[in-house]
Amino acid sequence: MAKYSYFYDIHEKCGIVGVFGHPEAANLTYLGLYALQHRGQEGSGICSSDGTKLYLEKSLGLVAEIFNEKVLEKLPGHIAIGHNRYSTAGSSTLENVQPLLATFSLGNIAIAHNGNLIEFESLREKLERDGAIFQSTSDSEIILHLIARARNEDIYERVANAVKQVKGAFSLLLMTEKDLIAIRDPYGIRPLCLGQLKEGYIIASETCAFDLVGATYIRDIYPGEMLIVNEDGIKSIKIFNNTCKAYCVFEFIYFSRPDSYIFDHTCVNTVRKELGRQLAREQAIDADIVIPVPDSGVPAALGYAEKSGIPFEFGLIRNHYVGRTFIEPKQSIRHFGVKVKLNPVRDVLKNKRVVVVDDSIVRGTTSKKIVKMIREIGGAKEVHMRISSPPTIGPCFYGIDTPTRQELIASSHKVEEIRKYITADSLGYLSIEGLKKVIPNSNSYCMACFTGKYPIEFESKKYSQLELFS
Ligand code: AMP
Repeated sequence: MAKYSYFYDIHEKCGIVGVFGHPEAANLTYLGLYALQHRGQEGSGICSSDGTKLYLEKSLGLVAEIFNEKVLEKLPGHIAIGHNRYSTAGSSTLENVQPLLATFSLGNIAIAHNGNLIEFESLREKLERDGAIFQSTSDSEIILHLIARARNEDIYERVANAVKQVKGAFSLLLMTEKDLIAIRDPYGIRPLCLGQLKEGYIIASETCAFDLVGATYIRDIYPGEMLIVNEDGIKSIKIFNNTCKAYCVFEFIYFSRPDSYIFDHTCVNTVRKELGRQLAREQAIDADIVIPVPDSGVPAALGYAEKSGIPFEFGLIRNHYVGRTFIEPKQSIRHFGVKVKLNPVRDVLKNKRVVVVDDSIVRGTTSKKIVKMIREIGGAKEVHMRISSPPTIGPCFYGIDTPTRQELIASSHKVEEIRKYITADSLGYLSIEGLKKVIPNSNSYCMACFTGKYPIEFESKKYSQLELFS
């Protein structure tokens, strides 16, 4: 079972949505969360306001399981924020499902957070020593306590003051009875996009949330910006002096939906496909077919096939309905592993020299099982693994659930050793130079998972580390 090696609960891979100025704000937020389900499946919540009062509904489960007409009726008003929480790790308790809501001297405030704060433990301990009572094990709750304790008369100043005390990755949505407030950390690590609705505004982690509600993508919330949306209109305040941008490159590689535009209007699908083309330039091989590991490997495989001239086929079919509730039989057929999700198409693979394109190798377990499946069940003659990102050597401390460094196979093994482990006939990764060539303005990106160079300093020994896929 996946677990945290530390008591606190870290937010990772979450999706957030906020709406202002629409009579059905909660309904639109629900649709946005639905579109962002890939960013978190453990639990969801929506907080709404009718201008006088905040209403909160949250639960464990998928968006479609939690919200129905009855629940949405309990969320009236023209302002709402929502949050999807990630599923495979952390304590699955309702208290940790966001938005988190608090009452303090200036009224009520709710928060939805995507990203990880770093070195927050000492801040939390200090707050607890000063008498703060925490309701969750979430790092995001710290921001609420800091807001409550700030001395500023003005709520916006209080919020700015609070976020200036934390460090790490934060794309935040906050709301009071009257305001929707969006904040992005000075590095802009996680995406956060502003959209125009016919009536009002929408702010979401990715633009795929805009399409479902007919919103137009205006721009990103800028790194270091606090954007206040209320009856007076939109006000942008620069609350951090930007150091340098450090957008997360893994959003392009794996996280975001291909139909989204993130990080200064960049299409995820276009980048992924070009990563595949670049991979074909760097890692050519004689083969009969190119197949993707669905879904995340599909655009890169299309790019690889296009550039190499090798026909693209679907050689693995994904079952999209495998949920958290899947029960493995205890006795007879054990260790379903990847077989539950993926099944080979024998007719496509039989006696073929196959190039398999995936977006990344983390521990190597997925690739190992896939190669075995393609060869043994699919009947492929040769299996050549191609990865549309460089070797993953560093864990992410800013919001992606990578396992500890020791568990990242590429942190301690050479490509040839990994090839042997996954039993492929050949293995080829994209180079870091190739990645930089493909990503527009690549200097504005955090590539720590591939380079080991972290843009925000931290005491790594003290930092809690997430263990995934265990
Ligand atoms: P592994 O079996 O540990 O090597 O995992 C590699 C597989 O996990 C690849 O198919 C990736 O698409 C997928 N993957 C990469 N990063 C993540 C992540 N942060 N969360 C879930 N799956 C991931």
